[in-house]
Amino acid sequence: MRGARVAPHGRILARARVSTPVADGPDAILGALAGLCRNLAGRTRVAAVGLGVPGAVSQRRGVVFSSPNIPCWHDEPIGPRLARRLGLPVLVDNDANLHALGEHWLGAGKGVPNLVLATLGTGIGGGIVLRGRLWHGDAGRAGELGHTVVDPDGPLCGCGATGCVEAYASATGILRAWRFENRVTPSSRGAAARRILRDTPETIAARARRGDPRALAVFAEAGRALGVATASWLQALDVHTVVFGGGVAGALDLLEPLVRIELDARLFGLDARRIRILRAALGDDAGILGAAKLALGKGSGG
Ligand SMILES: [Zn+2]
Repeated sequence: MRGARVAPHGRILARARVSTPVADGPDAILGALAGLCRNLAGRTRVAAVGLGVPGAVSQRRGVVFSSPNIPCWHDEPIGPRLARRLGLPVLVDNDANLHALGEHWLGAGKGVPNLVLATLGTGIGGGIVLRGRLWHGDAGRAGELGHTVVDPDGPLCGCGATGCVEAYASATGILRAWRFENRVTPSSRGAAARRILRDTPETIAARARRGDPRALAVFAEAGRALGVATASWLQALDVHTVVFGGGVAGALDLLEPLVRIELDARLFGLDARRIRILRAALGDDAGILGAAKLALGKGSGG
């Protein structure tokens, strides 16, 4: 768990981190989280706490329904529990939503009214900011952009459906395609296969930049899928700014031309030349700053 004390204008004044005592259960996690907050506050008067959690949350009630990283949390009312412990308001949201809010507040999307952000990591998370506020949808699950279907007959996604953009343009999807291109499986033997299995999205991107045709094919497929999905997001919302974060966004130089081809081909009634494709600017601080913005009480809408 990482935390920071943040000034009202977004300057980070102090940072701290503690390991999450997952094996010790919800009470221990609450205790560690409260300790982290007290340590960060020190003698400063703190107004509120913003908490970003990977997983499904009720923003309104401060409840985490489930979190893949914290399997002992089931319908955990972490917001109200931490608020009682600290005597402070606690606001809870999904971490990818807070990435979007942070990038909108102080990062790549500063100054635009609306944006869609997708984090291209192990999976693909996302967040939607409309008129400066997070859009949560009816059930609080808006912005799960990774599960936008780009080919109903495509590869299996971690969610159980087929052909989600996450199955192509996440780190997992890129590694799957790289192994497929090279006809290597995790049980393959030999030095060449071991080299392929050791590759990461970064090393595959480096190969593509050097002209390796298989690496270029992998990014062509990922970029096309990402472009199809991006066109759907922007089309549905009439939003002109898309921000890509996460490790795979380091290959945006390879992906963006392919995304542009799909936007040019697919957008209806929107001018593809006006679409801004941006790389996230705040790195790991996007979530922290989004949580701070949420705590300032202006981040949550819809
Ligand atoms: Zn999926």
